[in-house]
This record gives sequence, C-alpha cells and structure tokens, in this order.
Amino acid sequence: MRKPIAAANWKMNGRQAEVSAFADSLNAVNSRGEVIFAPPAVYLTAAEKAQKGFALAAQNACEQADGAFTGEISMPMLADVGCQYVILGHSERRAIYAESDAMIFAKVKAAFACGLTPILCIGETDEENQAGQTEAVLTRQLSLAVDNLSAAEKQQIVIAYEPVWAIGSGRTPSIDDIQAIHAKIRYVFCQNDDTIASAVRILYGGSVKPDNATAIFALADVDGGLVGGASLTIESFEKIIKAL
Ligand code: PEP
Repeated sequence: MRKPIAAANWKMNGRQAEVSAFADSLNAVNSRGEVIFAPPAVYLTAAEKAQKGFALAAQNACEQADGAFTGEISMPMLADVGCQYVILGHSERRAIYAESDAMIFAKVKAAFACGLTPILCIGETDEENQAGQTEAVLTRQLSLAVDNLSAAEKQQIVIAYEPVWAIGSGRTPSIDDIQAIHAKIRYVFCQNDDTIASAVRILYGGSVKPDNATAIFALADVDGGLVGGASLTIESFEKIIKAL
C-alpha cells in the first residue's frame, strides 16, 4: 500500500510568523497519509522548530554540495536543517529559471546522495496539451530518471504530475484524464516492474482545492497532491489533508 501525501508548496509566500503558526496548526491535524510542508528556504528552520506531525521539504536546491555558487543552497545543507524532501523541476523553475531535464536530473541524484527524497515535478504546457504532445513531453521529462535511477531510488522517489496550464488557474483536467495520465506515468516510469509500480507515489498538482480533492485523491493511480494556493491557509489545507 502506498501512503498518500498532501504536500503544501508555499512558493515565495509568507513571513516567519505565518510559517511558524501554520506549522503549529499542522501538528494538530491528524492524517491517514503523510503531510509535507515546503516553506520558503529561509524559513525552513522556523518550520523545523515547530515540526512534529509533518515532513519538511525545500522547493529547490543546487546540484553541487559546496563551493563557489553564490546564492545557492545545497542538498546537504537542507538535510542538515531537517529536510526530508526536496521539490525539483517545478514548472516555475523550468520556465522562469530555464532548468533543463539534465540539470533537474543532476539535482535528483544530488538529493538521493545525501538522503533526501526528491519530489520530481513533470507536466505539459497548454500549448503542448492542445497539440496532443502530453505523453511525449512527460516521457521525455521522465527519461533520465527511468534510464539511470536504481530500483531502490525508483521506489523512493515521488513524482508530481502538474499540468502547467492547471497551476494557479482554477482549471484541472477531467477526472478521467487525471487517472489515465497517472496510469500512463506509472507505466512509463516503472517499465513493467511491479515492485516499483506498487511503491512509487505519483501526486497530482494543479488547482487542487477542498472541493475537488476527494474525487482526485480517490483515483487508483493518484497518491495525493502537491498543493500551491490552497495550502496557504490551514483551513483549506486541512480539508485537503482530510481528503487523502
Ligand atoms: C503548484 O504550484 O505546485 C501548484 C500545484 O499550485 P496550485 O495548487 O496553486 O495550482
């Protein structure tokens, strides 16, 4: 059985007092799944101090461990301040900061090297979706991981399918499409290895809200959600956690 995940991606939002208050409130929420909180990196320590009932994630990190990389934060540093997860390849990193599949995969390897679990984000743009390229794009975004990760790493990694056009837009694919795409991702990633297929968790992200979370999380190949806007208040994120 795969333990479902509700992950809160705060992006570049909030201040220290809000992060601490949210973390305190999260501790009080009972969940049948795993709850993950990804505050801005500068507030990871504030969240870690309050942390009891949830796991801590960073939103990005450098593929290098140490050295002359001004402004960067490394994976060993994240592990050092208590992170267990790191979100990698978010579409905002791909689009705004030009992160390539190769760079993102180097980060995936660097995360595993220091004991962090990567949450690898993949997803097609609106244009790619309209052009019928969704499967080809997702296959390309997964290919370095498919070809190069060990079986143990494939069982541990978390994949987040986030159609770029659904992020922050209030639009989502249909329930049938979400299930079909998740099943396809599981098939492409696992290459007929049943052990990996039954272990790897695939989250849906993109306009998850309290009123659609139950239907999305009930799908056979959806193992929870990566949530942006609706994770910014505890009232709404708690409802999403309860939908797991
Ligand atoms: C995200 O950015 O990862 C995300 C899913 O955002 P939202 O929930 O706001 O669409």
